[in-house]
Amino acid sequence: MKLHFLGANRQVTGSRYCLEVSGKRVMVDCGMFQERKYQPRNWDLSPIPPATIDAMLLTHVHIDHCGLIPKLVKDGFEAPIYATEPSVGLVDIMLRDAAEIQEEDIGYKLKRHRREGRKSPFPYQPLFNVPDAEQALPMFQPCKYGQPIQVTPEVTARFFDAGHILGSAMIEVEAKENGRTIRIAFSGDIGQPNKPIIRDPSLMADADYIVMESTYGDRNHQHPGDTETQLAAAVNDAVSRGGNVIIPTFAVERAQELIYHFGRLVRSGRIPQLPIYLDSPMAVDVTAIYLKYHDYCDEALLKMIQDQQAPFRYPNLKLVRTADDSKQINHVPPSAVIMASSGMCNAGRIKHHLKNNIEKHEATILFVGHQGEGTLGRQIVDGQTRVRIHGGEFQVRAKISQIYGFSGHADHDGLMTWISHFKRAPRRVFLTHGEEAVALKLAAEISQKLSYDAYVPQYQEVVELS
Ligand SMILES: [Zn+2]
Repeated sequence: MKLHFLGANRQVTGSRYCLEVSGKRVMVDCGMFQERKYQPRNWDLSPIPPATIDAMLLTHVHIDHCGLIPKLVKDGFEAPIYATEPSVGLVDIMLRDAAEIQEEDIGYKLKRHRREGRKSPFPYQPLFNVPDAEQALPMFQPCKYGQPIQVTPEVTARFFDAGHILGSAMIEVEAKENGRTIRIAFSGDIGQPNKPIIRDPSLMADADYIVMESTYGDRNHQHPGDTETQLAAAVNDAVSRGGNVIIPTFAVERAQELIYHFGRLVRSGRIPQLPIYLDSPMAVDVTAIYLKYHDYCDEALLKMIQDQQAPFRYPNLKLVRTADDSKQINHVPPSAVIMASSGMCNAGRIKHHLKNNIEKHEATILFVGHQGEGTLGRQIVDGQTRVRIHGGEFQVRAKISQIYGFSGHADHDGLMTWISHFKRAPRRVFLTHGEEAVALKLAAEISQKLSYDAYVPQYQEVVELS
């Protein structure tokens, strides 16, 4: 039995694994590489020939976990993809949007390169387009948490709530080979406890091998219980300086969480009655899926719905779909809160809002999520004074703020709690989905404190499971 590590190895994005058991191949996730440095890998042919894959298990619908599925399908993959019910609802929106963003970005790139007389080493075409994304959709098989799934005759899987975004899962895989059963726990992205909207992450107790994320393996979130206060402070500060608050956000989970918090802050008078824009047709559609699958939400949200309170609707909130309405936001007098995707600023409408605000002293760029190495968001967070957006140079004069407690990822203590819950020592813990130094540090700590064999695999490393 072999496990291939095909992404998010010593870096954060592009989650992808392939389990080879009894002549069958089961892929777990098929994510897009988002750090600039690793983006060329998106163009490579899948290291496992797509037509030879027998099934896929999807932990959740973030693009760094599912974004290469349409390309895989285009290249010959044709097999069931198992995912939770909300994930199947959301993946449709995510993949269409990813295709549209790429088509748009290629247009900009082509124009810019012509103007500057440059040539890209990659083809001037999107990795996949909307019809490619649509071709992948019928392959998804909706599953419920806890339900055993017969993936191949030798492999069964069960999903558990990962508490990261709606429908996110940890996956327990049981694989039989030569009369032996091996249990592998894939953590997916582990959520933070006590978050609004979604339930707390599950704890798993038994596995022979553990594949675990390590995004925040070296640090704890600041004031994780107090994000609403920090959010109010950032908005009130921007209002006093007469500027806008620009929030790059993922369209899934983070956007709904922000809407939820802003609704509470406006209703309680902790921030003034300013316009709050969600400038993302995708985030608007995603919010509808959250309402459709509210059974998967936490008790507090279910109670709000029972009490006829709309967690995601209030008068200040403007849901923006069209490009024309998005452009109108440029003319709105400050202060306004403008939320747009993508969360790491490497695509989407956020780039336009950054162009319009980043050179203004009175504006605030508020980051509410992890910024991967090499992304525009990371350059801004790291204090770069000049940045390139759509080919233009911009001076960073806006106030740059960050709220860590918003993270959808467990922090260092959360990861240690999760791994400490296993009742026996696994044969090995593989740490993925973290920057190299962070993953290595967490591996050392797990080895030292729990005496587990903890290891950080390299990209395309293949390990034998026995
Ligand atoms: Zn994620």
